[in-house]
Amino acid sequence: MIDGIDTDDETVVIRARAQGLQTACPSCGVLSGRVHSRYVRRLADSPVGGRRVVIELRVRRFRCREHGCTRATFAEQINGLTFHYGRRSSGLQSILRHVALSSFRTATGRVAAAAEPAGQTAVEPPSSDAAEEAH
Ligand SMILES: [Zn+2]
Repeated sequence: MIDGIDTDDETVVIRARAQGLQTACPSCGVLSGRVHSRYVRRLADSPVGGRRVVIELRVRRFRCREHGCTRATFAEQINGLTFHYGRRSSGLQSILRHVALSSFRTATGRVAAAAEPAGQTAVEPPSSDAAEEAH
C-alpha cells in the first residue's frame, strides 16, 4: 500500500509498504507473524512529468519459527507493487499518472490566474481511476 507521496519541483518520492500481518516463509511455506527487523529500500523509477521518481519501500524481515526449517529470517514479498526494470505495476502507474495530472493542473492554474484575475474555474482532468484504485 502507499503511505504517502512527497513531491517537489524535481522529485517525486513515493512511500510504500506491504499490508498484512503475516507472510509465508519461502523455504517451508509456513506463515510467520514475527517481525525480525525492518529496513527501507530506495528504488529509482523512470521519471514522470520531468521529475525523478524514488520509491521508498519499507520492508520487514520475518523470523521463521518452523522446526527444522533452515531459513532463519526472510524478507517479505511486496504484493501489488512489483518493481521490474522498465515495467511498473498498474497500481503504481495510475498513482504516477495522478501525480502528473495534479502537477499539470497546478501549472495550468497558475497560468490561468496570471491571465485572468477572477472568474476562472480549474479544468478537471478526465475521470480519474487512480482514486478508485487507491484503497
Ligand atoms: Zn521456514
